[in-house]
Amino acid sequence: MKQAIVIGGGAAGLSAAASLSAKGWNVTLLEKTDRLGGGFRSVRLGSYHFDLGFFPVTMPWMIERVYREAGTFMDPTLTFQPLDVCSRHFFQDGTWLDVSADPDRMGRELEKLSPEDRREFLEYLNEVGRMYEAVEEHFLERPAGAWSDLLSVKAFKAWWSVHPFESADAFHRRYFDDPRLVAVLNRYAAGVGSSPFDVPATVSLISYLDMVQGACAVQGGHDVLIASMESLVRSRGVRIETSCPMEGLLVEEGRVTGVRAGGEVWKADAVLLAEDPGSGSVLPPEVTDALLDTPRISAFVMLLGVARTFPHLHHHNLFYQDLAGREYIELFDQREWPRSPVIYVGHPGFSEPDRAPEGKSALCVMVHVPAGMNDSGSDDLAFHREWLLDLLESGWGFLGLRESIEEEMILGPRELEELTGAPDGALYGPAAHGWRTFARLPARNRKVTGLYHAGPWVCPGGISLSAVSGLHAAHIMHRDAEEAGIEREAVKTGS
Ligand SMILES: Cc1cc2nc3c(=O)[nH]c(=O)nc-3n(C[C@H](O)[C@H](O)[C@H](O)COP(=O)(O)OP(=O)(O)OC[C@H]3O[C@@H](n4cnc5c(N)ncnc54)[C@H](O)[C@@H]3O)c2cc1C
Repeated sequence: MKQAIVIGGGAAGLSAAASLSAKGWNVTLLEKTDRLGGGFRSVRLGSYHFDLGFFPVTMPWMIERVYREAGTFMDPTLTFQPLDVCSRHFFQDGTWLDVSADPDRMGRELEKLSPEDRREFLEYLNEVGRMYEAVEEHFLERPAGAWSDLLSVKAFKAWWSVHPFESADAFHRRYFDDPRLVAVLNRYAAGVGSSPFDVPATVSLISYLDMVQGACAVQGGHDVLIASMESLVRSRGVRIETSCPMEGLLVEEGRVTGVRAGGEVWKADAVLLAEDPGSGSVLPPEVTDALLDTPRISAFVMLLGVARTFPHLHHHNLFYQDLAGREYIELFDQREWPRSPVIYVGHPGFSEPDRAPEGKSALCVMVHVPAGMNDSGSDDLAFHREWLLDLLESGWGFLGLRESIEEEMILGPRELEELTGAPDGALYGPAAHGWRTFARLPARNRKVTGLYHAGPWVCPGGISLSAVSGLHAAHIMHRDAEEAGIEREAVKTGS
């Protein structure tokens, strides 16, 4: 039986482990922190229940695929609750826009905000829908182990058709005049940890997921999904070791032979890295490549248990201080904490009232900041707490917020790293800037035989895409092992 080691117990690692074990591999999953789930998790403070999540979940059928590939049905206790409004966007002029997959509702929203742009909107949706289909067929459905796997005429045409050389911002401005609408669409770039000024228009297809397919929430919180995936993987015989960080990769004559982790040597035929190598990488430079120079973004997060309700909130809410997108320049070019950030406020109690006691709210407030920066520890966090509470109270309908806080947890990049295992608190891997967005790091490592990659470094864009990247990596590992077996057999028999 082939032995695989999977590094990282997030969605990508769990999906890969499930698929490999169903293909007959003996799988060991090593996780650095004391729990599984990585960035996808819930937090409880007193009687408040938060999800550490800043975007709705899209494409839940990708998660279903993990169960199918493991040879079973979707866990019947798991419910992906559709959101009638994927996200609510508030602007400084007092207007707001609800993004929804209901075409009539979306039409009414656009009519209210910008009637001229409503006509263009259908054309825009057709174009991003076409881009989505091209990406789905050539990059999401088919595992690409190496760049050569994408070198068919059809794949090239698909890649060319998704505007790889036009920025998302330029693409949106081609369709829309209203700066509020452009700011909302540009925001999808942040969902893959990127700037709309530098990420290719390809990323706009994520708006298609929200606006056509719709988004959802995991009923009961993110931990429910991770617990279900964990029991799936355990039921398939995968050995899971938590608090077991990989310390180094073992390579002999260009082939991986195992890893050093938790002070021990673990031997394997193949190793899958389903984690963000990050800045303090234990991997050789040839493995991490130039991607480590690319900016990565993290967050400043306040989980607030508040003894009041805020009727203007939906489940996912965004507050725009500035429509010109200065935040992206500050984050990606100047690598500073932004002065006019888009503020995200998650309010899961909108969909599940039992997330907070009656008449109270569990709010997850977040702004993006560069990864790896807590300038001066807790003083810095306290300063930013005051700044963000001032912004919310003064302009966005949160009067009395500060005095109503009953429970709170404040997290900068360093605290997020401790909680989620993401190096430097980076939420999404390196920024997807440039034309390689949807296949940044091929799943099969080019330099080290038997070494594979999954997760945000391979395929940015949230939990479902991470799960798919884990499945793809598992397919490629299995295919490579089978082909190597056939070659060995041929050498033995001399055929
Ligand atoms: C705070 C936060 C909020 C997010 N919000 C959302 C959201 O709302 N919606 C959404 O779709 N996506 C969200 N994301 C992104 C989402 O978490 C990811 O897209 C997805 O969960 C990534 O899964 P993954 O398995 O690829 O990586 P991760 O979840 O990062 O998992 C990687 C795992 O590898 C482990 N690891 C790292 N280094 C080592 C090592 N040396 N040895 C062993 N183990 C190691 C880590 O501890 C971690 O458990 C968020 C991410 C974060 C961090």
